[in-house]
Amino acid sequence: MLLLFGLRTALKDLPGRLATCPNCGQFVHHRLQERATKFTLFFIPVFTTSRTYQITCSNCGQTSAIKARQKNALAW
Ligand SMILES: [Zn+2]
Repeated sequence: MLLLFGLRTALKDLPGRLATCPNCGQFVHHRLQERATKFTLFFIPVFTTSRTYQITCSNCGQTSAIKARQKNALAW
């Protein structure tokens, strides 16, 4: 029997918000993205193995990774 399985990473844009960038110090819009890695069986996503979030400054492009708990604490 042949089993096809693997991992697939999907990026999803979430609503961003205004915040002060720790790098450039400007109060600008920050983009929030969710990066989810999913286990696939026959190319069909079965379950999520990991989920991380990253915020990107729209002024300088500085990207930082945040945990789900931090993302929830920000109350987007
Ligand atoms: Zn910045």
